[in-house]
Amino acid sequence: MPAARQKLIRALFDEYIELYAARDERLITRFSDNFSGYTGGGDELVTDKAEWVRITLQDFAQVPGRIRIEMLDLSLQDLAPEVVTVTAFFHIHLPFAEHILSSKTARLTLVFRQEDRDWKIVHSSISIPYHLVQDGEVYPLQGLGERNRELMALVEERTLALEEANNKLEALSYTDGLTGIANRRSFDRTLEQEWHRAQRANTPLALIMLDVDHFKQFNDHYGHQAGDTCLQALAHALAETVQRAGDLVARYGGEEFVVLLPNTQEHEATQIAQRIQPAIQTLALPHVGMPTGIVTVSLGLVSLRASRQNSQEDLIKLADAALYRAKQAGRNCLRLAHCQEM
Ligand code: GH3
Ligand code: MG
Ligand code: MG
Repeated sequence: MPAARQKLIRALFDEYIELYAARDERLITRFSDNFSGYTGGGDELVTDKAEWVRITLQDFAQVPGRIRIEMLDLSLQDLAPEVVTVTAFFHIHLPFAEHILSSKTARLTLVFRQEDRDWKIVHSSISIPYHLVQDGEVYPLQGLGERNRELMALVEERTLALEEANNKLEALSYTDGLTGIANRRSFDRTLEQEWHRAQRANTPLALIMLDVDHFKQFNDHYGHQAGDTCLQALAHALAETVQRAGDLVARYGGEEFVVLLPNTQEHEATQIAQRIQPAIQTLALPHVGMPTGIVTVSLGLVSLRASRQNSQEDLIKLADAALYRAKQAGRNCLRLAHCQEM
């Protein structure tokens, strides 16, 4: 092909692409009156120039902002002295985020023919592997939008399900498997929080520690299974008795339970402990090893105001020491902490 013609056609092609990218209606003046073309969406040959103009304007209306055309490859061929075809491969970047379309390779073939002294486009064929195109669209924006919404809905659904599963797992990790009340881990976490809260608010924090009396004997006599059932009943009774919001009933380990009472003075905590004992006696769980003939607990109680001289470990130590004294005193009773035991 003569170099001059090659240069001219290349310039005409570049101008065409620029007009198309700029959504410039002057594009339609480049078409011959004998135009024919294939659109990207349909595979029907359009032989009417007016129809082609209509399709082009519809394309411009669908995406009015400037688009960017990233040329990948281009070749020119002369079919006759007055006929040259240009075939180009490119990516189309629409003026908004759409990663799917911009990664697809589109192909455009333009046939230029010399008419009088001018070169006009007599044929245009574009192939855009977009699929999804719906009525009247050049770019499958609606289909992509729908697909995007479907994906987002799916992601949201999965995220919620995952969150729910995580919440369940989290709740499980703070629950005692046998009794269904809070476990030691939950108690440790809550104690940590409540101790600091009490420190900030300068309020007393109370702790009651309970231990089942002669529970080894209970197991030995009634069996481990009955022991488990007994612990479940005790936990249930405890949870029923201590119901103020913010209070925590937890299984501390084995046959020991704890009741953590924020903002509670010693005499208030004592009242609660004195409600716990009859609640357990009301269960009247038989225990041959006890003088009472039923299952009882020993309780140690402390109420402490956080200061520079003490720590949350002291709260546990004091309750534990009080509980030890209750055992020493013959069991089935409550003892209050002596703060000098700290
Ligand atoms: P004391 O009155 O001094 O507390 O006597 P005790 O027999 O209760 O104390 P000890 O610590 O000697 O025994 C505790 C028993 O609790 C021993 C253990 O088998 C039993 N135990 C701990 N956890 C469980 C449990 O989950 N299920 C059952 N069935 N028994 C348990
Ligand atoms: Mg024990
Ligand atoms: Mg015991």
